[in-house]
Amino acid sequence: MTETIARRNTKQRQAILEELRSRRNHPTAGDLFHSLRRHLPRISLGTVYRNLEILTETGQVLKLACGQTESRYDGTVTPHTHVCCESCHRVADVELDLPALADLAGTTVDGFTIASHSLLLRGICESCRRSS
Ligand SMILES: [Zn+2]
Ligand SMILES: [Zn+2]
Repeated sequence: MTETIARRNTKQRQAILEELRSRRNHPTAGDLFHSLRRHLPRISLGTVYRNLEILTETGQVLKLACGQTESRYDGTVTPHTHVCCESCHRVADVELDLPALADLAGTTVDGFTIASHSLLLRGICESCRRSS
């Protein structure tokens, strides 16, 4: 019985990871739950949250906080820059040429050996700007 549950958990975690990797829009746990439910009718929102926590801890998923709203998740874990809209809270990847930042890995800054970096830009997206 326990073994069956463990196997189902692994299968669900894999499905969550695949769904997240197939999207580039940094969905919330709720967004993922709504799409996963179509082919995994037994999945619960709690399961999605729990597995996203595990995947974040194991470094397979990035957790992004844009202000005080629900966390968003990213299946792309290579260092990249994000921009978040302070109005609708959507998060997007941005192409920013910051060679100095990319070269920081492995160097020492104020006594810290740098392993990785993350940068979150904040602003107002085009559609929010138009509708205001
Ligand atoms: Zn917006
Ligand atoms: Zn991203």
